Amino acid sequence: MNLNIKEACRLCLGKSSKTCDEIFFPIDEDFERKFTEITDCILDVLNEAYPVNICNSCLTQFEEYYNYRKSLIEKQKRLNQLLNIRKDLKIVKKQKLEDLNENKFMS
Ligand SMILES: [Zn+2]
Repeated sequence: MNLNIKEACRLCLGKSSKTCDEIFFPIDEDFERKFTEITDCILDVLNEAYPVNICNSCLTQFEEYYNYRKSLIEKQKRLNQLLNIRKDLKIVKKQKLEDLNENKFMS
């Protein structure tokens, strides 16, 4: 495998148009943060031994995956919120019934 590491895509290690688009983008801090968030791996962009570019195909897939993952997390939080609200409503309803019953016995 004859690979020029510096010119390869940091994510797929590809360079030819078969595996990657030929347009490359430099990796920035925002990308680095997102990468660590979804992979628990560190890109270490300051280490000059590593490639500093990613290909178009990886960039697209990465953004899609990142956004999908983020959306799943948000939906689960929303679902939990909704369930808690329902639980609270049930408690409120139960409390009201108990109050009504107490009033019945008191009168
Ligand atoms: Zn790539």
